Amino acid sequence: MSTFDEIYEKIKEYPTIILHRHTSPDPDAIGSQAGLARSLREQFPDKKILCAGEDDEGDLAWINTMDKVTKKDYEGALVITTDTANTPRISNKLYKEASFLIKIDHHPDVDPYADMSYVDPDAPAASQIIVDFINAEKLPLPSEVAYPLYAGIVGDTGRFMYPETSSHTFEVACQLAKTGININEIARNISDVTFAQAKLQAAVLDYMTVNPSGAAYAVLTQKELKKLGVTDDQASVTVSTPGRIKDIKAWNVFVEKPDGTFRVHYRSKGPVINQLAEKHDGGGHALASGANAKDMDEVKQIFAEVVEVTKKYNEEHE
Ligand code: AMP
Repeated sequence: MSTFDEIYEKIKEYPTIILHRHTSPDPDAIGSQAGLARSLREQFPDKKILCAGEDDEGDLAWINTMDKVTKKDYEGALVITTDTANTPRISNKLYKEASFLIKIDHHPDVDPYADMSYVDPDAPAASQIIVDFINAEKLPLPSEVAYPLYAGIVGDTGRFMYPETSSHTFEVACQLAKTGININEIARNISDVTFAQAKLQAAVLDYMTVNPSGAAYAVLTQKELKKLGVTDDQASVTVSTPGRIKDIKAWNVFVEKPDGTFRVHYRSKGPVINQLAEKHDGGGHALASGANAKDMDEVKQIFAEVVEVTKKYNEEHE
């Protein structure tokens, strides 16, 4: 792994720097990318600094929108990915044209794809690492930089609830808040849902199957999504809903895609589920992962595996 200083030396070398993040972005993906880009733009007004990704910010355009990039922009360019564990998840694929590739991430480093990387799986958000980088290298951190980074931290910590949240996370959040950003607006933007999304949350609870082990799952079909007018990306807001129930320890939400396959969300309060996700074209954190299932047979198999690790977890914690 490289140091912040080594990464910063590389940044200084390149006249063009293009920031990429992961597909199906969440606030941390967009926030870490935007925060780093904006700070570097302040520090290096003569460099060309761009945010690239498919046009899929959707409901997260309030954090940042992408710049238009062409193949030509990548000539002699440095690409930095943030919050992106593996190459299939890098949005978009023009990153392959980079002269040099740097990865800054907080997922387990299962795919060390870059020429240089800084990966800290203990950090609750890639945005927290970006703040640490900005501080270490004495880069500018005005409110325009702080805003997306705070959004990323609030998003990936579940509003400072998930276990990786530490006293350092609060120090960083405090520093960002002191820039004058509207922390209430950010928290509201992240937590507010549309009426249709709220109905979908109710559907998750209605359709949920709970195993005696404390493992649970719900399947959201295209039919249900269409009925409520919710896209599969917007359905992500339902993923944390089962976790509010005391007896539920690990769960899946399966969201059917238009092609009949399923986007799989894994969440847990204890049983480790990322190795399970890796078996199904996915991965992620120990307690929050994603994967893909081709049909209902794979859906059932995935849930059986979650039941198994939850039972094992119960035995170990009796
Ligand atoms: P999600 O359930 O989509 O919110 O994803 C939870 C976590 O798992 C996030 O940190 C994602 O970056 C990661 N993740 C989701 N899908 C995949 C995938 N197909 N491959 C690797 N990591 C994933």
